[in-house]
Amino acid sequence: MHSLNVTGPSPSQSDQQQAFDYLIVGAGFAGSVLAERLAAGLNKRVLVIDRRSHIGGNAYDHYDEAGVLIHRYGPHIFHTNAQRIVDYLSRFTQWRPYEHRVLAVVDGQQVPIPINRTTLNALYGLDLQSDEEAERYLASRAEPVETIRTSEDVVVNQIGRELYEKFFRGYTRKQWGLDPSQLDKMVTSRVPTRTNTDDRYFTDTFQQMPLEGYTRMFERMLDHPNISIMLNTDYRQVRDQVAYKHLIYCGPIDEYFDHCFGKLPYRSLKFEHQSLEQEQFQSVATVNYPDETVPYTRISEYKHLTGQQHASTSITYEYPSAEGDPYYPIPRPENAELYKRYEQLAAETPGVTFLGRLGTYKYYNMDQVVGQALALYKRIEEAHNGPAPG
Ligand code: FAD
Repeated sequence: MHSLNVTGPSPSQSDQQQAFDYLIVGAGFAGSVLAERLAAGLNKRVLVIDRRSHIGGNAYDHYDEAGVLIHRYGPHIFHTNAQRIVDYLSRFTQWRPYEHRVLAVVDGQQVPIPINRTTLNALYGLDLQSDEEAERYLASRAEPVETIRTSEDVVVNQIGRELYEKFFRGYTRKQWGLDPSQLDKMVTSRVPTRTNTDDRYFTDTFQQMPLEGYTRMFERMLDHPNISIMLNTDYRQVRDQVAYKHLIYCGPIDEYFDHCFGKLPYRSLKFEHQSLEQEQFQSVATVNYPDETVPYTRISEYKHLTGQQHASTSITYEYPSAEGDPYYPIPRPENAELYKRYEQLAAETPGVTFLGRLGTYKYYNMDQVVGQALALYKRIEEAHNGPAPG
């Protein structure tokens, strides 16, 4: 029988009386991995708190009213090239192989994104047969940009303005509320262009979903006698009420410091979840809508990810928004500069370590956050035990 040690929002008497070695703010990947390691690896007493009503952070999934497993904060697909990350997480879950595929609605057709040879053939009525032919075709459309600085430069330089406008301009403007010409080149560099017919969204070695979902995996991770959990609990509510030796903060770093240098800008999303009385809504897990006149960016259908068999299906529309939970750090040089000031302040503040997506103001995939947490654990372990021999 499974039993997490969960309370909240007020600390139980025993939580107030006993000193914890670590207070961890945030029960997402960053906080949960570190909690598990400290508790199981170093026998530390850990209190994990989260202001949400659940563990798992943005990867949280749950069964909706119809009984379909959905992701509350949008579709989360696990992919990585790191065997050690898979090995670590495999202690808490079995996996279901899953390769993510995405279509984009462009000129009234649904075509593969990232753009590949199939996309070009479908859009332009071509019959490109080989990588070389597709390469030549793209080269003929590319508009060389001398110095590549922005997200617009990267794409126009590679595939030309027309494809840029069809696939990237509107989508990026909706997603970020900024024109690609105002965004760092890394934003659109994340989406490659292919000359083959590979229509997988990711090409990582490992692409798989936790067999029983993310939340079940987190439950197993946090199920340890040394770990207490308080949900619906903000750090500010308990910081003076519980005794601990060290703080690991996986919330927004600027919030921790009362926004003393100003707010770090984030882009948010509104999720509209719908349950439909039909077995399937669309042919792949995610369909993108780059057209700027459509207010949402994409629709995702979870049963493709989870493999669940069910008479109904559940989908989520994503509407980008300036207001709401902090999801995506906005990659602009002045924001990176602002973050550096907070990072410096953090380095001068004893007793607290910042971790995770919000703690380090970086867009990280799940595997990267697991890697970051395991790396921090290794440093703590070495400080505790001395470096491993060899
Ligand atoms: P989070 O999961 O955000 O956890 C931080 C937790 O801290 C939150 O639960 C929050 O409530 C809590 N918290 C913050 N401040 C406080 C406070 N003051 N007091 C108490 N609690 C606090 N990654 C992938 O690898 N694949 C994907 O397909 C993918 N899709 C994504 C889709 C979307 C829409 C988004 C936004 C992200 C996606 N990601 C994906 C990234 C993934 O969500 C992150 O890598 C991961 O959630 C980061 O974990 P974390 O622990 O750093 O942060």
